[in-house]
Amino acid sequence: MESNKEIKNISWQGANCLSCKYFVPNDPLNADILERGKCAHPSLVKFNLVVSGRDWCNLYQEISEKRIDKLVNEAHKKDDEQQKNLIEESKKPNAFD
Ligand code: SF4
Repeated sequence: MESNKEIKNISWQGANCLSCKYFVPNDPLNADILERGKCAHPSLVKFNLVVSGRDWCNLYQEISEKRIDKLVNEAHKKDDEQQKNLIEESKKPNAFD
């Protein structure tokens, strides 16, 4: 069993993909550290990586408020469009059979 002295040496990874400007979450409106998404870093994007909010790499750069707002606004637009489509589809008989 570990002593209390060893436990005190545990540190939390503060910077992670969730707060990295290159993280493109699948669901920007509900993203937390368990969120999955893609890494869009110019040197990594070609690998089509799936990363989670709690992942990290040494290319990390902190996301700006402007970038967060952009991701959230785009997600709201996408959500509104999906909702409109669902309303239209729900009017069709047997649409969900
Ligand atoms: S893998 Fe690296 S560059 Fe890509 S989102 Fe995560 S921290 Fe950022």
